[in-house]
Amino acid sequence: MSRAVLRVSLLLLAALGRAGAGSEHDQEHGGEDPPPSGEKGPGHSHWSYEEREHWGVDYPDCAGTVQSPINIDMAKTIFSPHLRPIQLSGYSLPANEKLKLKNNGHTVVLNLPESLAITGGYAQQYRATQLHLHWGSPSGPGSEHTINGHRFAAEIHVVHYNTKYDSFKEAMVHPDGLAVLGAFLEVGPRENPYYQEIIKHLYEIQGEGEEVLVPGFNIAGLLPANLKLYFHYNGSLTTPPCYQTVKWTLFNQTMLLSHDQMSVLAMSLRNDDNKPLQNNYRPVQGLHGRRVLASFQTSLLLEKEMPPGADGSAATGHASSSFHAGDVLAVLFGVLFAITALAFLLYIYKHRSQNARLDSPTKSKVIYTAATTENTA
Ligand SMILES: [Zn+2]
Repeated sequence: MSRAVLRVSLLLLAALGRAGAGSEHDQEHGGEDPPPSGEKGPGHSHWSYEEREHWGVDYPDCAGTVQSPINIDMAKTIFSPHLRPIQLSGYSLPANEKLKLKNNGHTVVLNLPESLAITGGYAQQYRATQLHLHWGSPSGPGSEHTINGHRFAAEIHVVHYNTKYDSFKEAMVHPDGLAVLGAFLEVGPRENPYYQEIIKHLYEIQGEGEEVLVPGFNIAGLLPANLKLYFHYNGSLTTPPCYQTVKWTLFNQTMLLSHDQMSVLAMSLRNDDNKPLQNNYRPVQGLHGRRVLASFQTSLLLEKEMPPGADGSAATGHASSSFHAGDVLAVLFGVLFAITALAFLLYIYKHRSQNARLDSPTKSKVIYTAATTENTA
């Protein structure tokens, strides 16, 4: 399939989509993310990543059909032009505002003031409550979500709750209660100054339950600069109690940390068994018919084939997957075009032969007089 045809087809599709699409995707995100926001209420007792296959016994939702994380097959995502850029407000905090950073035995959690909010991109308003990370080990990656089967080194989750509820705790049990912003972390050439604000304090909270106050900084720096390109689906918290109340946003652009930073992240903390806190990610869960929306046309982005790492895009480097939705559409439009062209040619042909019949008597009347040459000689 030629790229030109593909491009034309997608443009046609975009135009048609704009003209004809209603708001079929109003229920967006999925959500998840656990908010181990520190407190261990009754029933929130002991769980571990070792026994994650049995979470459903004590926490029934963990065995549900709207669980997170998931693998995102980019070829199967659905472009939704209704997904607006995510807008954040209040994310830049002054250094004199101290934040609690805690090792809760499952992850490192940074508590966030309620002044941080998502003010655009979602249908409703959400307040931040905490952020935390998922990582692997020195020998392997540890993001929770995967893209086309690829697992990234680590993943950040910024947990928010719907402002229509009074607290995170109240919101987490309602279907529209939570919104989690997620981004993938990869190893890059330089130290990331925003992540360093967290990583440099990890040695102070190596044991489970330990916490430290850290100066405020620009929390938005922990998320990609490009908040326009993302995936959206409905899901759950990725840790018990696995409530299926999260509208997930996963950014396409990845964050880069230095190799040293990634090592410190994977090596510093210990869990409640006093073992290294590593591989704190849950395996991907079944989609069970759920659809993943994309705020952008994944096939067009892939077609550009930006050099790897040019924008740290999660899409780059995974451009090899074979047959995309765009190809199917291109074939469809190609066939439609061929049929239309054929019909048009047939029409022209018929019209011409009709004219020919009408014309022929006239033409036969034409008296053709050849130019005469006078013989002047
Ligand atoms: Zn998480």
